[in-house]
Amino acid sequence: MTGPLVMKFGGTSVAGAAAMTDVARIVKDATAGSRHIVVVVSAMSGVTDALLAACRAARDGGIEQVERHLPELQSRHLAVVNELFADAAIACDIAAEVTRACDELRGVLTSVAILQELTPRGADRVTAAGELLSSRIVATLLRESGIPARWIDARRAVVSDAGFGAAWPDLAATTIAAAGEITPAWQAGEVGVTGGFLPQRQRASTTLGRGGSDVSAAVLGAALDAAEIQIWTDVDGMLTADPRVVHDAQPVGRLSFDEAAELAYFGAKVLHPSTILPAVEKNIPVRILNTLRPGNPGSLITADGGGADRALTAIACKRNVTVVNVTSTRMLHAHGFLRKVLRGLRAPRDLGGRGHDLRSERLDDAGR
Ligand code: ADP
Ligand code: ASP
Ligand code: MG
Repeated sequence: MTGPLVMKFGGTSVAGAAAMTDVARIVKDATAGSRHIVVVVSAMSGVTDALLAACRAARDGGIEQVERHLPELQSRHLAVVNELFADAAIACDIAAEVTRACDELRGVLTSVAILQELTPRGADRVTAAGELLSSRIVATLLRESGIPARWIDARRAVVSDAGFGAAWPDLAATTIAAAGEITPAWQAGEVGVTGGFLPQRQRASTTLGRGGSDVSAAVLGAALDAAEIQIWTDVDGMLTADPRVVHDAQPVGRLSFDEAAELAYFGAKVLHPSTILPAVEKNIPVRILNTLRPGNPGSLITADGGGADRALTAIACKRNVTVVNVTSTRMLHAHGFLRKVLRGLRAPRDLGGRGHDLRSERLDDAGR
């Protein structure tokens, strides 16, 4: 492949030592075809949920809750480190990183507990730890597997706005930042390895909302003029329906950017709804692939979708959607009426929902 390749691995693809070993094998194979690779990884599956649970528990339950949540997170990462690295010095080094990150988390969570307040900014600081840790472990694993690799701090490579909890990436600023961080690794013959989900705005960690590692991959792909953005996950591509609902859903081989964006927006979780925007901007193909079956062709998403002529591409569904009918007899000449209605519908402050809701608004802002 000529041109850089971005390979993003989701939470289940880095869920434990065995999954990470598969990732190393896939990246090794890719190095035979492309000299310039950036690997973007999610947090190990369940870690972001656990970090958010720790945030809420600290806010609602006080300092003792911090000590109820942190040890499990720490030991889960340490167990993976111990399983992956036979070399004691390397295992010790990376274990020290895990301990340092957990000590920092302890500080932030303690302040949440004392203030009894969880701001989106505070939650971003905590949840960033998931991707920081997984990406460090994967970078070390690649090196130990004979692949020259450099860990890159995502907060230096990807720049966003200040929308904590659901930040929007700034492509122009990321283009400069990513070149500064990643090009030196390529010049040294190394694969760049970074965490998804966690850009930065003026030295403060932000996050791109749940599932946002896809967006990190896409914005890095656009910033680095990638030849392809690969989304490695736990299914064979974009399927004709949600496989949790329709058990014999089939992979769709080719899709257009428009089709993929619509499906993602209306519930096909395999792709974050904002993944396609940066790819469209630079006309970069996006390929969805299965980490468990790397030989399978997956789904290729391009501008024309391969010209497939079919009545139906796939079906998506969204749950927990509330339809609100607004009727008023006082609407005539009522300036600001819709604004007032929409204000009343503002997203709840709870963080899980906030990211998602804001993200949808921003997507609409972007003209979709
Ligand atoms: P990752 O952790 O790799 O980002 P996600 O859980 O975010 O993975 O997305 C993959 C999941 O998306 C699949 O396991 C599947 O259950 C779900 N999914 C929902 N709709 C679709 C669809 N149309 N095609 C493929 N996967 C879908
Ligand atoms: N770890 C984050 C999440 O669980 C981001 C991602 O995986 O894409 O939402
Ligand atoms: Mg995802």
